[in-house]
Amino acid sequence: MKQITDGLFTFSGLLVGRVYLTVDSDGGLTLIDSSISSAGGKILKQLAEHGHAPGQVRRIIITHAHPDHVGSLPALKQATGAEVIASFVERPMVEGKAPVVMPPRESLNFVNRMMSGPPQTMPGTPVDRDVADNETIAESFGGLRVVFAPGHTPGQIALWQPERKVLICGDALADLPPWGLRIGFSAFTADKAAAKQSAKRLASLQPDIICFGHGQPMTENAAARLATFASAL
Ligand SMILES: [Zn+2]
Repeated sequence: MKQITDGLFTFSGLLVGRVYLTVDSDGGLTLIDSSISSAGGKILKQLAEHGHAPGQVRRIIITHAHPDHVGSLPALKQATGAEVIASFVERPMVEGKAPVVMPPRESLNFVNRMMSGPPQTMPGTPVDRDVADNETIAESFGGLRVVFAPGHTPGQIALWQPERKVLICGDALADLPPWGLRIGFSAFTADKAAAKQSAKRLASLQPDIICFGHGQPMTENAAARLATFASAL
């Protein structure tokens, strides 16, 4: 586990799909996303190495219902008993009652069509609390504001800590070599035009720190880099 800033950490060695941890003022912990299904044991092990029992995880917030974000949710829910939080739009997909929404195949080039696939229905986990745009999850990290960021999936959320200017953006944005800052991959992004609008909305927040679903957290010149990226979309 690596510290990003005071009270905010990310796990190491999960292969795909980054998971964040916040240490909350109620003495509890919040996980944001859960990576792929093989990551659950690694997450619990790294929590233990930092002296945290599974029961200290009070909340698991899901940004969107892709397999690299909800893969370990069933195991982590079982191990921690945490409250599962997701957007009301994404809820049926997190609960395994509807397939994830994939991009129209005819919109994809050959390579992306190969990478993309049929809509899958995830092994479901009940959502204990669904959230709407602009709602605040008060218990987590001094208050995380829900910012709807549709496009990559219809119900994706980002999380915004306004006093600390920290943005946790799911797959609304990514920062991966060799591309650098980008919106989510076309092969898995249901609506690219909406994704671009969401990137512009997130840029308007002017974050000091951006925590991506894929890529290293951006801690230097984040607002300016995001503004430059978003203005070119
Ligand atoms: Zn995704």
